[in-house]
Amino acid sequence: MWARLAAANCKLKKTARDGNMKAAVLHAFDEKLTAREFVKYEDVPDPKIKRPTDVIVRVGGAGVCRTDLHIVEGIWRSKVDVKLPYIMGHENAGWVEAVGPGVEGVKVGDSVICHPLVTSGHCLACRRGNDMHALDSSFPGINADGGYAQYLLTGQRSLIKLPKSLAPKDVAPYTDAGLTAYRAAKKASRHLLPGEYAVIIGAGGLGHIGIQVVSALCAAEIIVVDRADKSLALAKECGADHALKADGDEVEAVLALTKGKGAEAVIDFVGEGDAVAKGLAMTRNGGSRLRRKDRDSDDRHDYV
Ligand SMILES: [Zn+2]
Repeated sequence: MWARLAAANCKLKKTARDGNMKAAVLHAFDEKLTAREFVKYEDVPDPKIKRPTDVIVRVGGAGVCRTDLHIVEGIWRSKVDVKLPYIMGHENAGWVEAVGPGVEGVKVGDSVICHPLVTSGHCLACRRGNDMHALDSSFPGINADGGYAQYLLTGQRSLIKLPKSLAPKDVAPYTDAGLTAYRAAKKASRHLLPGEYAVIIGAGGLGHIGIQVVSALCAAEIIVVDRADKSLALAKECGADHALKADGDEVEAVLALTKGKGAEAVIDFVGEGDAVAKGLAMTRNGGSRLRRKDRDSDDRHDYV
């Protein structure tokens, strides 16, 4: 399933410029995900600078996310105002290709990672640092053309320069998968004291980042729960103190490690099935349970 999106992206090699770029374009929703290809690889006009603070980025990497599948399924139709055809891809990094006349802080050729939301910085929410709740914003790849293309239109406020040691293609997913995990892990770490316990459910795309963030931000003991041996091995590499198989007895195993009390924080990166009830059962009295936002959540995205 991922391959049907990823294969289209792999074709996006640089070609001669003629005012058109290559892009993987979504033309129709596919509720059952049965189409042979979800997106069409085709020529579309290059994005253009419209506002003084606009920046065009030559895409070096664009993550394929589960959210993309939900977009293809049409699940987000009622939440997001987007007209087809459009270009998905909300996890982007690359090199600055062109800047508007008011842009400061980045110059052509800089390698950058793109915060997913583009904001003006003028409203109260932005001024408080809560850009995700800005009055005026766009979300390339969600409600505007995104990064499954050679070029992406974004804004200077969304760009963070990359050090030379990081290639855009290696870090693009941090703009969503990384940010989401960081947000939850940061919240949990603020309350965790040395010697307390943090359970992380799921050591996949988000969870393996969450483990590293918790480990970097606090001295709690990290217990990771996952079904797959491969993910548990990765969890250990990422800094987990305990790796527990989700084989049906994971609640008991967590209680045994925490002297019957449960963990002070449980961060659930699965968010569906029995992970929800089990996560609560692993949480100590007065502890906190944090959950990634998912398809059934009514919450707005909240990354920052
Ligand atoms: Zn994503």
